[in-house]
Amino acid sequence: MPVEIEQFMCRSDNFGVLVHDPKSGQTAIIDAPEEAPILAAIKRTGWTPTMILTTHHHMDHVEANLALKERFKLRIVGPEAEKAKIPGIDETVEDGSVLHLGDERIEVIATPGHTAGHVSYYLPASRVAFTADTLFALGCGRLFECKPPVMYESLKKLAALPAETAIYCGHEY
Ligand SMILES: [Zn+2]
Repeated sequence: MPVEIEQFMCRSDNFGVLVHDPKSGQTAIIDAPEEAPILAAIKRTGWTPTMILTTHHHMDHVEANLALKERFKLRIVGPEAEKAKIPGIDETVEDGSVLHLGDERIEVIATPGHTAGHVSYYLPASRVAFTADTLFALGCGRLFECKPPVMYESLKKLAALPAETAIYCGHEY
């Protein structure tokens, strides 16, 4: 059974996303840009979050980490390379790491470029990928910490995913 996804706006132009596995009841939050809209989405869906999957360390992706951890006792996962800058992180991942949301397999793809440790999360069975500030609807994230060839290699990895993969990105521009 594919995951269910609730997408909503946070801050001025960030997307917030909840990913719910209906079989196990587990729910992941993809990044935590702002507490209030995430809480509203949790209330609206009735889904109790069990983990936060962090894509990168920027403040507009981790600001609500500690508040949500305190409230829901959830586990915070994020890239090993940026662990020092991710509040409340419990578990680190890197390219090729595999996580599970119930039986749903989550594959970690290192996509450096916007930041040096940025990761994307790919759910092959549900055919969705969460690319945050690597790949947008019409472009890619700004290159804050890497040179263009690094981002190009990351975009090539995402381009190699099956064509039917739905991409959820980090901002609405
Ligand atoms: Zn960013």
